[in-house]
Amino acid sequence: ENRLSTWALNISPSPTLAVDAKAKALKAAGKDVCGFGAGEPDFDTPQFIKDACVKALAEGKTKYIPAPGLLELRTALADYYIGKKGLKNIDFSNIIVSPGGKFSCYLAIMAAISPNDEVIIPAPYWVSYPEMVKLAGGKPVFVYAGDESDFKITPAILETALTEKTKMVILTSPSNPTGAVYTREELKAIVDFAAKHDIYILSDEIYESLVYDGVEAVSPASISEDAQSRVIITAGFSKSYAMTGWRLGTICAPDDIAKAVAKLQSQTCSNATTFAQYGALEAMKRPDLAKEALEKMLVAFDRRRLMFYNGLNSIKGISCRRPKGAFYVFPNISSFGMGSVDFCSKLLDEELVAVVPGSAFGSEPNIRFSYAVSEETIEKGLERLARFCSKL
Ligand code: PLP
Repeated sequence: ENRLSTWALNISPSPTLAVDAKAKALKAAGKDVCGFGAGEPDFDTPQFIKDACVKALAEGKTKYIPAPGLLELRTALADYYIGKKGLKNIDFSNIIVSPGGKFSCYLAIMAAISPNDEVIIPAPYWVSYPEMVKLAGGKPVFVYAGDESDFKITPAILETALTEKTKMVILTSPSNPTGAVYTREELKAIVDFAAKHDIYILSDEIYESLVYDGVEAVSPASISEDAQSRVIITAGFSKSYAMTGWRLGTICAPDDIAKAVAKLQSQTCSNATTFAQYGALEAMKRPDLAKEALEKMLVAFDRRRLMFYNGLNSIKGISCRRPKGAFYVFPNISSFGMGSVDFCSKLLDEELVAVVPGSAFGSEPNIRFSYAVSEETIEKGLERLARFCSKL
């Protein structure tokens, strides 16, 4: 008899963290590794946000608060969704502050998905969605949109996976791992599909602030009143404010889902860290300072993005779509006739370059580089990759 639960046995460990662990072990052994596995900004949290947190700590803001979060922060977030994202008629009660964007996704799925419900997950997908759906007892159903369609699914593609058990589709725009960003028109078509078949959209907008080439990260919830009634937005402070370690995520949801999420959170983790929420509140209260810090990150990310985009496309055998958001490039390496896992493991062994195989995201022809690293590392990594490919 097995000592572990079906949940524990069913779930796979995070493959992105595994690559990172191997790269770190090589580094610790003194090897000159170029690591492109990281999923976090290589910038420090802006000082004014840290100061507000320190002040809160000094003032004794160290106790429980209501499970859904600081009222002021939830109100500021509701105002943000109305003013900046175009949502209507919401207030603090539609917002929950959770311990991280990842937990926000988990809570949203737990609030909407029952055993045997089906959730359509467009691949390439973020690695945690299928596992979260399984933890809710649901069934992940995959559809695929590769390089040729700019990694974006359409209603026609969704239709192929639809059954009477379909309850939700998950959208990530801007996307990890592809960097693709859906336009308002593309989202409208998907929202119409969701309305026609009465399904939820889980819209993971954690990378909403990291967009380039003048594109806008539109929320599907802003498209219509009906859309707002079926879209659950998850987001957070990790990527936009370089606050990954603070563990602060958000959920913006219709009344019934928001209430359910608050209830689930109250029985699992209670409130996200109290003094951390005061730091996040300051980020919302000082959009001028937040914008200044964000602009600095964006200038650096944009330069690196173009270095990668141009550098990868100049290597024979590699083709790379131009990402519009987040901080990843997702080139196609299928011309070498190797699986993505073999390619990545050989690349790490021979050239000490750590990247994540596309198979981890449900896309065998690709590999993922994070450009949350220095320009020197990108230059060195590209040189090594070019040498590696020339020998294949
Ligand atoms: N959603 C996506 C698509 C992500 O890439 C990540 C982090 O890598 C998250 C959610 C979770 O972010 P957090 O660190 O806030 O839990």
